[in-house]
Parts: sequence; C-alpha cells; structure tokens
Amino acid sequence: MKYDIIIIGAGPGGYVAAIRAAQLGLSVAVVEREALGGVCLNWGCIPTKALLKSAQALHYAQRGVEFGFSCSAPEVDIAKVVERSRGVASQMSKGIEYLFKKNGVTVIPGTARVSAPGCVSVTATDGSCAKYEAGSIILATGSRAASLPFAPVDGVKIWSYREALVPSSLPSTLAVIGSGAIGTELAFFYQSMGVQVTLIEYLDRIVPLEDDDVSAQLSRSLRKAGMKIMTSAAVRSVDTSGEGCVLTVATKKGEETLTVDRVLSATGVRPNTEGLGLEELGVEMVKGKVVVDGSYKSSVDGIYAIGDIIATPALAHVASAEAVRCVESIAALTPEPVRYDFVPSCIYTSPEAASCGITERAAKEKGIDYKVGKFPFTASGRATAAGSRDGFVKILSDAASGKVIGVHMVGDNVSEMIGGMVVACSKGLTAKELSSQIFPHPTMSEAIAEACLATSNEALHI
Ligand code: FAD
Repeated sequence: MKYDIIIIGAGPGGYVAAIRAAQLGLSVAVVEREALGGVCLNWGCIPTKALLKSAQALHYAQRGVEFGFSCSAPEVDIAKVVERSRGVASQMSKGIEYLFKKNGVTVIPGTARVSAPGCVSVTATDGSCAKYEAGSIILATGSRAASLPFAPVDGVKIWSYREALVPSSLPSTLAVIGSGAIGTELAFFYQSMGVQVTLIEYLDRIVPLEDDDVSAQLSRSLRKAGMKIMTSAAVRSVDTSGEGCVLTVATKKGEETLTVDRVLSATGVRPNTEGLGLEELGVEMVKGKVVVDGSYKSSVDGIYAIGDIIATPALAHVASAEAVRCVESIAALTPEPVRYDFVPSCIYTSPEAASCGITERAAKEKGIDYKVGKFPFTASGRATAAGSRDGFVKILSDAASGKVIGVHMVGDNVSEMIGGMVVACSKGLTAKELSSQIFPHPTMSEAIAEACLATSNEALHI
C-alpha cells in the first residue's frame, strides 16, 4: 500500500505529525520500534515528572509538623515510586494508541530505514522485512543519551537517564555529571529520596542555558536541600573496577577524587540518525543532525525531519510544534512559522524554574538596551501561605519599546505560568501592558505584574 505520509518514530514529533496528517485527510502510517509516545512519554518528560511528584509529596510529608499535623517519619519504597512512574508512562502511551485508532493512523511496529525516496523498509522484531511506499517521509527518530568516552554507560554502575528512571534499589551516594534540565531534575529526585548527590558541572554555574539569576537561585535551593554542587569541574576519569565508582575531577583548586556508589551521565543527547540510510540518499547533515528548510524539508525531495534530530531545542513541545508546521506544509497549507525566539523551557525541581526569551547575559552580549524588573516570592502572600518562598520573577524589557523580551522565574509551580508569558512575548506586549492586566489574588502570577512594574521602578509591594 502507498501512504501519503510515512512517519518514522512515534514521539511527540511523530505522533503529533500523524494525528495532524490524519485530520487533514491524508493517509498516514507510523513506524515505531519501541513504545508509542517516544522518549517523552516513556523515558523522558512524563516518567520524570511522576518521580518528581513523589519527591514533592515526600517533602510535604516530611514537613507535616510545619503544616499542623504529625505523622511518623515517612519511609521511601523505591519499588512503589518507580511502579507509579511506569504506570503513568504506560497510561500515556496507551493514550496515543487510542488517538491513532480514533484518527485512522496505521502503526507499523519495527525498525525503519529509508531505502529510496518514497520507500521505507521495516524490519520487525522477528527479523521479517516489509517495504512500504509514501508520497512523503517524515523522520522523527529522536535522540538517545550521549556517553562520555572515558565513562561509557554500562547500565550497572554508570547510568544514563534510562537506568536512573527505574532503579531496583537506591544507592547511598550518586554523582550526576551534567547539570542541564535532565541532570538537575534527576539529581533533585535522588537527593529527595535520601541519596547523597553530588551534581558536577563543567561550566561555572548549574543549568547554564538559563539566566544567571536562575542558576544562582536553584543552586542555593538545591544546596539547602543538602545537595553537593561542583561547578567549573571537569570529570577526567571514572574508575569502576572496585566496589563503587571513583571519579577524578579537575577543579579550580586542583584535582579532586570522589567515591560514589553510582554515576549518572547526563551530558546531553545524540540524534538517532544512524542506520536510516540517510548518507546513502545524500541527505545533508551537520554534526549528525538533519539540515532542514523552513518547511522541515531535508536536502532530498520528499524527506522531512522534525524534533530532536534537527538543530532546534531538544524539547517535546518544540518537536510537536514542528510536526504541525511540517505536515501542514506537506498538505500545501501556509502555517505560521515556529517562534524559536520564545520557546519555553522548564526545570521541574522544587522550586521549579521556567523561562522564555532572552537571558540578561545574552542581552548584554548582543548590546541590547534593556530594563530589568524583579519580584521575589518572599514578598508573595501565596508563596508564604504555601511555605515555598524561594524564587522570583524576573522580566527583561526592551528599553526603547518597553516590549517584554525575556521572562525568568524560579518558584512553586512557575512552569504553569510560563505559557501565558510566551503569549505575551510573542504578541509583543509591553511590560506596562502586562502589568495593567488584573492577575488573581493571591497567586504566584501576581509576581509577573509586580516584576513588570519594577522595570520602571513602580512595583507596589517591594
Ligand atoms: P523521541 O521522543 O525521542 O521519539 C523518537 C521515537 O523514534 C522513539 O520512540 C524511537 O523508538 C523511534 N525510532 C528511532 N529510530 C527509529 C527507527 N529507525 N525505526 C522506528 N522507530 C524509530 N522535553 C520537554 O519538553 N519537557 C520535559 O520535561 C522533558 N523532560 C525530559 C526528561 C528526560 C529524562 C529526557 C531524556 C528528555 C526529556 N525531554 C523533555 C526531551 C524530550 O523527551 C524530547 O525532546 C522529545 O521526546 C523529542 O521528541 P521526538 O519526537 O523528536 O523524539
């Protein structure tokens, strides 16, 4: 059978592309070698958030006396914590199966390869091979954990995020190499479960893609929770020959040795572009990522790429946004392009971090004349009532136009506040326009209006 579109990979790029294509009346098949939902639903966004919810629940239970109730010290049953997380992941994956059925999307289980333009070969788990034809092929094969050459993931002592999501028991000590969102979230989870965690970052601050103030605040909050943090620290070797793991770390003070039970390697992800036949077809790639145009078309006609395998932020919502634009372009519609200048980014620790737009450091580097306004959650009634006063809202506005160009937040539930800020920034609202709206009281979101007012020294509550 010939399909209008065959999509390789059923992550948030692939499954959204498939559903949108079906909605537009196109015949569509998705090839997937693992579970529907990709890394996001099965090994990324969703199971981590389930684990982090357990961590948050544990923190509240541990702080019972503060909230006016007594209970004996809660004990962690890691098997139950993991079981809940896996249950959530599998429930979400089943949801995609339902959506595919509802929309008439065909699922082809197996590993796909593009054997020629318009032709996809699929090898099933039993080794049998079948060929399918398509008018267009969308590559949405995602990424996997990168590994350090001197510390390859062995799945036993050196973990990638996959092993870290399903521990059979808790180590006493854990070193996490890399403090991006994945490393920091998992470091926070393990620290919450009672593991002594050391978070090691090569650069001079943790979560280095975020605004400097976000790095500093998260660093303070995580240290307060008992985590050890090493910055400007380069892991040189990991020796796993003995009982534990011995790390040699080059720091500003000289070489240090750290002995831990387990190591989590969280140094980034690599695109899954090998074995797809792309080199043979002459698909242009840079550093393993497929080069695409504004419609996500590769250098070869009829072959498109979206999500973690192209050089855009490796985030689920970015993959899904690209999926919709890609399919609508194939269907000869004229979709609005993705706004890469205001991609929201969140870190789901406690407190959370959430941001969109330019950081203060980048504004300085680009010579942008900006104003900054900041409102601390110590002055927020809602944060005080919740017993979570760490954090702030920071707004950067363009000095000349007053338009909001960057929003950086740390605090309870700030991930739920950033969506509105994306709308405000992409629609070009000024700090004045934002602060003149009514924000509900008492909420964390009131801090947005106050931080906007602070850009012109007019804040009412600080
Ligand atoms: P993927 O989700 O990786 O899906 C690709 C699919 O393609 C996979 O299912 C794979 O099995 C399949 N595939 C690959 N090759 C083939 C082949 N040859 N044949 C058939 N099938 C194939 N992002 C966020 O936005 N928010 C978060 O909170 C967040 N948390 C994360 C936490 C962790 C621990 C990790 C690892 C990632 C997290 N991410 C998060 C990133 C997010 O998961 C990815 O950006 C997103 O999944 C990318 O979507 P995708 O569709 O490009 O690829």
